[in-house]
Amino acid sequence: MSSKMVALNLSRDIKKMIAVNAIFLTLFIPVLLVSVKGLRDVSTISIIAVWGLVLSVGNFIFVHHYLTRKTETNLKHSIDRMQHQLSFDELTGVYNRRAGMARLREELSRARRHGRTLSIAMADIDKFKNINDTYGHLAGDKVIQSVAQSLKSQLRECDLVIRFGGEEFLLVLPDTDEKQAVQPLDRIRQRLSYQPIRFENQTIHCSISIGVASVLPEETDVIDALSRADQALYCAKQFGRNRVVHREQMSQMRPMMPAHA
Ligand code: GH3
Ligand code: MG
Ligand code: MG
Repeated sequence: MSSKMVALNLSRDIKKMIAVNAIFLTLFIPVLLVSVKGLRDVSTISIIAVWGLVLSVGNFIFVHHYLTRKTETNLKHSIDRMQHQLSFDELTGVYNRRAGMARLREELSRARRHGRTLSIAMADIDKFKNINDTYGHLAGDKVIQSVAQSLKSQLRECDLVIRFGGEEFLLVLPDTDEKQAVQPLDRIRQRLSYQPIRFENQTIHCSISIGVASVLPEETDVIDALSRADQALYCAKQFGRNRVVHREQMSQMRPMMPAHA
C-alpha cells in the first residue's frame, strides 16, 4: 500500500471529525447566538456562518496536509528500518550474507568494467567453539561483535565486511590484488591476537585465520574465487591457525594438505 493510500485512508476518519467541526462552526454557533443572545440581524448571522465555513475549510486543509506528511515520514522511516534489517546482520551490524553477496557481485561487475583487480578473503575465528564452551554464548557473541568491529574499522571505507556464517566473515577488497590484500589483513590479525577482548570480568584471547584469493580477469562469477579463498582458509587452519594465507602460498602448501582437501 502506497504512503498516499494510507494518508487517504487516515484522512477519511479525520474528514468525519472535520465535518462535525464544520457543522459546529457554521450551524451550531449561529443557532446558539440566535437562541441565547437573541441575535436577529440576518447579515451578522450570515457573516458568522461564512467565517465558520472558512475556518472549517482551513482546518480541513491544515489537518489533511499535516497528517499526510506525518504518515509519509513514518512510512519512510519504517521502510528504511526494514531495508536495514534485511541487509545487515543484527549482532554485528555488518552486511548479512544475502545482501553482502549482492554487493560482491556489484563489485565484481564494476571491477570487470574498469579492468581492475578484486580480492576476497574468508576470515574465521579460531577454536571458537572452545570460547563458547569456556566463557558462554554471550561472551562468544561479544567476540564475534569485536572481530566484526575490528575488521570494519581497520579496513578501508570501500571494503566490504560480510557476516558469511556463524563466526565466519567474507571480506571484499576492491582494486587490490592478492598480495596487497595480505598486508592489511595480517595487521588486523596481529592486533586481534595481541588485544584480548573484555567481557564482564573475563579476558578472552582470540585469533582469526584468513584465506585470500583474487577474482581472475576471466571470471564472471565469484563462486570459484570463494572456493579458492575457502581452500586458502583451510590451509591457514591446517598450518596452525592465526595466520593469513593466499593462493600462491597455498600451491606451495598443497602437498602437505590431506588428499580430500
Ligand atoms: P576452527 O578453528 O577450526 O574454526 O574451530 P571452531 O571451533 O571455530 O569451528 P567450529 O565450526 O567447530 O565452531 C564454530 C562454532 O560457532 C559453533 C557454533 O555453535 C558457534 N556459533 C555460530 N554462530 C554463533 C553465534 O552467533 N554466537 C555464538 N556465541 N556462537 C556461534
Ligand atoms: Mg572457527
Ligand atoms: Mg567456521
